[in-house]
Amino acid sequence: MTHATLDSDEQIVVTRPRFGRFFLPGPTEVRAEVLAAQLRPMIGHRGAPMEALIAGMQPALRAVFRTARPVYIASSSATGLMEAAVRNGVRRRVLSLVNGAFSERFYQIAQACGFEADALRVPLGDAHTPELVAGALRGKAYDAVTVVHSETATGVLNPIADLARVVHDAGDVVILVDSVTGIAGAPVETDAWALDFVLTGSQKALALPPGLALGVAQEPVLARAREAKGRGIYFDLVEFDKYLSKHQTPNTPALSLFYALQVQLERIAAEGIEGRWARHASMAERCWEWADDMTQRGVPLGVLAPPGFRSPTVTCFTLPPGTTGPAVTAALAARGFTIGAGYGELKDATIRIGHMGDHTVAELDALLAQLAEVLS
Ligand SMILES: *Cc1c(COP(=O)(O)O)cnc(C)c1O
Repeated sequence: MTHATLDSDEQIVVTRPRFGRFFLPGPTEVRAEVLAAQLRPMIGHRGAPMEALIAGMQPALRAVFRTARPVYIASSSATGLMEAAVRNGVRRRVLSLVNGAFSERFYQIAQACGFEADALRVPLGDAHTPELVAGALRGKAYDAVTVVHSETATGVLNPIADLARVVHDAGDVVILVDSVTGIAGAPVETDAWALDFVLTGSQKALALPPGLALGVAQEPVLARAREAKGRGIYFDLVEFDKYLSKHQTPNTPALSLFYALQVQLERIAAEGIEGRWARHASMAERCWEWADDMTQRGVPLGVLAPPGFRSPTVTCFTLPPGTTGPAVTAALAARGFTIGAGYGELKDATIRIGHMGDHTVAELDALLAQLAEVLS
């Protein structure tokens, strides 16, 4: 049981379960010291202490995104910056690469914001190839492409560096990247790959509580934003940029989450971003080996995503006949472990493990041992 009490000095005393039982593909499990950072007192958001907090986090954030650009922090869920990407980055017509529920959402946002949008669909479980995207861009004039890096619904990793190359080969076209389950878990080179806009949310591989979205815009997107009539107020990137240059945010930031971010960035810097990528790769490989072992032992388990296109942060397993996602997640819950059922159309046929954020292979092994018993 988790509970919090106050002692006589108004100190908060919290009892919570041991780390390593909660493997949803978002929100992910948050370390106690990161949660505790949120207990710091309030400060005003137009004063020097807040400016120092914001300025102080920029170097570590740039290291996470591998960029020399400023990293914007929005007090919203990740979907907010998906909308920002579209409102600021699209001129007229957008090509949306769709291979699961989250990339479908990007397409729906483009339509809802009033742009002409076409979906380039591949079957659930597949990635988009550069050839396919290059062909679509030759067939019709688009000025922007939306894409999800790590499709959390299927565990598929899109080849973002290659896709960015063909998008830029098509001329004045920008690539708008949802890397919500990529950034801080999968390699992302924002500047080297020339990602025009890339975003994430706090509650995935950054292993923070939900409520913040983080993103980087290259100059071509900011230039478009300055011209965009319908960019609105809350997700106006021109405003984000203007305020961040003064180490501020346009509106009241979710201060408690900023405190948590500050502590978590110190932890990420101590591990090193490449070390973090390597740890995620090891957890994913462990899942793939385990599925093969289980299959050999007579429990046919598959990994939905094909080799070479598997996310290091989330694995979507196909289940043996007669077993359903909700039944498996319920049996695991009875043992004190949380994983995700399938998402959307894949709800019954699959389960998903979010091995992202601060989990380790040892904790994952403990989960897989339980899951093996549930499935056998
Ligand atoms: C979780 C997720 C989102 C949505 O994030 P919210 O914080 O719920 O808005 C978008 N894209 C991907 C790939 C995700 O995994």
